[in-house]
Amino acid sequence: MEKKARSHLARKYRQLVTLEKTFLGYPCDAEFDYAPLYKFLKFPLNNVGDPYEDSTYRIQTKEFEREVLKFFAKLLHIRKNDYWGYITNGGTEGNQYGLYAARETLPKAPVFFSDHTHYSVKKNVHILRMNQCIVRSQPNGEMDYEDFAKKIRGRKTAIVVANIGTTMTGAVDDIQRITEILEKHKVRYYIHADAALYGMVLPFCSDVKFDFRTKINSIAISGHKFLGSPVPCGILLARKESIKCLQNYIEYIGAHDTTLSGSRDAFTPLVLWYRLKTKGLHGFRKQVKYSLSLADYLVSELEKIGWPNVGKSYITVWFERPSQKIVNKWELAANKDVAHVICLPHESKKELHKFVMELHEEVKSAREPSDEL
Ligand SMILES: *Cc1c(COP(=O)(O)O)cnc(C)c1O
Repeated sequence: MEKKARSHLARKYRQLVTLEKTFLGYPCDAEFDYAPLYKFLKFPLNNVGDPYEDSTYRIQTKEFEREVLKFFAKLLHIRKNDYWGYITNGGTEGNQYGLYAARETLPKAPVFFSDHTHYSVKKNVHILRMNQCIVRSQPNGEMDYEDFAKKIRGRKTAIVVANIGTTMTGAVDDIQRITEILEKHKVRYYIHADAALYGMVLPFCSDVKFDFRTKINSIAISGHKFLGSPVPCGILLARKESIKCLQNYIEYIGAHDTTLSGSRDAFTPLVLWYRLKTKGLHGFRKQVKYSLSLADYLVSELEKIGWPNVGKSYITVWFERPSQKIVNKWELAANKDVAHVICLPHESKKELHKFVMELHEEVKSAREPSDEL
């Protein structure tokens, strides 16, 4: 490689090392070491086709993919013979698969979701040419069930995308209540859960049940969020009976073409598998506990300096949007006048304290002009 290109690459590396130190707003853990997997990058890996069938393309990691799926099936309480799934490119693809299966199950049904739902749902509804019906949210970002009930009345079929952790405020829709409303109105339904971030958080908390013990049909989880991965990825898990309509055998690859992508990433199954094996259930439980304690700490620090509109849901802490300078520096995700921090294992109280002290400077300098009056 020529010198110029080499230094280009070296500069990028140094920049990323610096940026990682102030990475608070996005829900992606950044503390991991996958060095032992490095040697796998020399193979032209491809998990083409269904993860449960060994296709004619044999340089693959499907047995690892299946083990990852098995872990999530257990975590989300679905029995061995009742589920199907695959490792996706991320939460968006998982949501698309859930909606696709829903549309094939209930072809004319409109898709109900709250106005706090992630933009990927709207996009997928558009791509799939489905009809949408947007439900109002409560101030904390959770679905407004009265509005939902009002909009469900008189319908025969409905598809619902439930948020298991909204992007901005980490709100969790109550699947139990949604189901009761659907059944009360005798609606045939399909429920997809968008659990991009909280799919790996709530199973370790005692109070919220969104797993397959409820009547959800499918779940999408992002692999690069709470789990932590150098490459975006995700997990899609569905009841077998809910995706029966999407089986399609392809002679050329010698497998059923049940996935959205044809050729599929076979490296992230190794990443997720490695993460699960090295952390274990115990490790994740500890990480969730730690993240929850960081969120408590951040709320109390923000309250100490009197920062306005502070709220919290599990590991998501939101507050009034600070200046653009702070938003950029700390990579806060901000929407209108709200910004948030997702408390994740790679963060520390020390880092959050430093962040709050910078906010404090803003509070003080904002006060100064009015002191002069
Ligand atoms: C991040 C996110 C998604 C999309 O996931 P990607 O992995 O970025 O495609 C969907 N829903 C919610 C709530 C998210 O936070």
